[in-house]
Amino acid sequence: MATPPNHPPLAEQVEALLAAGGPLPIVAAGDPVLRRGTERFDGQLDSALLARFVEALHVTMRAAPGVGLAAPQVGVPLRIAVIEDPAEVPDEVRQARGRVPQPFRVLVNPSYEPVGSRRAAFFEGCLSVPGWAAVVARHSEVRLTGEDEHGRALDEVFRDWPARIVQHETDHLDGTLYLDRAELRSLSSNEVMAQRWTQPVPDEAARALGFPLP
Ligand code: ZN
Repeated sequence: MATPPNHPPLAEQVEALLAAGGPLPIVAAGDPVLRRGTERFDGQLDSALLARFVEALHVTMRAAPGVGLAAPQVGVPLRIAVIEDPAEVPDEVRQARGRVPQPFRVLVNPSYEPVGSRRAAFFEGCLSVPGWAAVVARHSEVRLTGEDEHGRALDEVFRDWPARIVQHETDHLDGTLYLDRAELRSLSSNEVMAQRWTQPVPDEAARALGFPLP
């Protein structure tokens, strides 16, 4: 979707955002920038500014901390996201959720399509919806196409937890929040999550709260 003409050019907006240094402020749900969709990246930032912006996204994601961050989450309506997951979780969680380490990656103009029909449902959260988590059923495996930060073609199959991360982040670029796809009866505060829903799988939560699992 085109930027309204009264907006400053994206490069100017990003320069202003980066001027303060350090982690960028994260936009919360309710801000229209999270709902408008994004422009395809097509050189709106020159390569030096793109590199600085990507580094700022990386720093912001780590500081949050999070495992993915999309440009609209810092108020920039460009089709760019970053992902990285050290996956420091207990073994039983890693096995049940397929939460394997995902190295740092930059996704430029990504889109995904399902591979096969298998779906998996787990609690997830979003840095733009702080304090809450909900169960989302997602494709277990997706093919992600797009580019990297150097403009090289990206065409890769992601599985399990990394597949969940790339779906969540790519959805942000289309103006979709995880809550749009969530089982709303599973919605749980961080406090309740820590008290009750630390199991590797959400089966007990599904029974207690009354929502379906795939
Ligand atoms: Zn998110």
